[in-house]
Amino acid sequence: MEDIRGLKKSELSERLRELSEPAYRAGQIYDWVHVKRISGISEMTNISKKLRDRLSQEFYITVLSIEEVQSSKQDGTKKYLFSLADGNVIEAVLMPYHFGNSVCISSQVGCRMGCRFCASTLGGLVRNLSAAEMLSEVYAIEEDTGQRVSHVVLMGTGEPLDNFDEVVRFIELISDPEGAGLSQRNITLSTCGIVPRIYELSELGLKITLALSLHAATQEKRLLTMPVAGSYELSKVLEACRYYAERTGRRLTFEYAVVKDVNDSMEDARRLSELAVSMHAHINLIPVNPVEECGFSEPPRKRLEAFYNELSERGANVTIRREMGRDIDSACGQLRRRYIKNAGICAD
Ligand code: SF4
Repeated sequence: MEDIRGLKKSELSERLRELSEPAYRAGQIYDWVHVKRISGISEMTNISKKLRDRLSQEFYITVLSIEEVQSSKQDGTKKYLFSLADGNVIEAVLMPYHFGNSVCISSQVGCRMGCRFCASTLGGLVRNLSAAEMLSEVYAIEEDTGQRVSHVVLMGTGEPLDNFDEVVRFIELISDPEGAGLSQRNITLSTCGIVPRIYELSELGLKITLALSLHAATQEKRLLTMPVAGSYELSKVLEACRYYAERTGRRLTFEYAVVKDVNDSMEDARRLSELAVSMHAHINLIPVNPVEECGFSEPPRKRLEAFYNELSERGANVTIRREMGRDIDSACGQLRRRYIKNAGICAD
């Protein structure tokens, strides 16, 4: 059995051709799945019962169940904990901005990248998510809120480029004008720096924004918090990012989680500004969300502002990410981690 939500329209056409069905059926079915957002094949009322029965033998539609929703009273951020068909749980976050609704989705159950400030990696990687499951995160949030999602950020649990094929399929599906029709320019993929995959992504002709989870401006410092730096040296990561920017014409973003006494010195700011200015990258400063098990904390507000000012004065294009949902478990992986701990299924 296969999830029909994960099929591109061309693939659906091919499958229907094999069933000797006319070509226009693919359009009708695709519309049911991605525009009308049905949750079962039996709901396709303009499709014959015979064909629906046939389709039901081969396909199903992923429906995520909402296990928990935390809503921030401060800023309207909503954090969702979804359960998947196999019992695993994943998180997604809805952040309302003045420009629209942005959703941060997970691309994997857990993560094997081991970044030391991140709760998502504490239990390791469980499995990749399918494109259909990623789409279902967005569709479920739209259904729950009754509002359109205008921006998608692949920055939740998981390293998107470690699940390359399904993530690319997801991007192609969600940006298909005949489906959800989200502009690729409104999609951001955040990576910790898997060099070969950045080159591969550069060749696909996608118009998405690449965000590098930089978090330190030197190889030595990066190694302290990001084990991936042991496999891909910072200079090579930056070279790959530069190639992506040249190939796609898209401006890069550097994500920088500011951690007290780890990467928040004026020297760190100076090095960071040099990198960003030379690569015309935008810097997104993220005051790190405290995670009990990781032992890292955010710098005091004054220090963060001094860091920001240093970058700005040196000509870097920089913003401090709005601290969304501080009154809920908003750090990546925290809600899922608490859930599996409470359920007694956390191995570590
Ligand atoms: S920050 Fe991202 S890549 Fe690093 S461990 Fe967490 S989920 Fe994985």
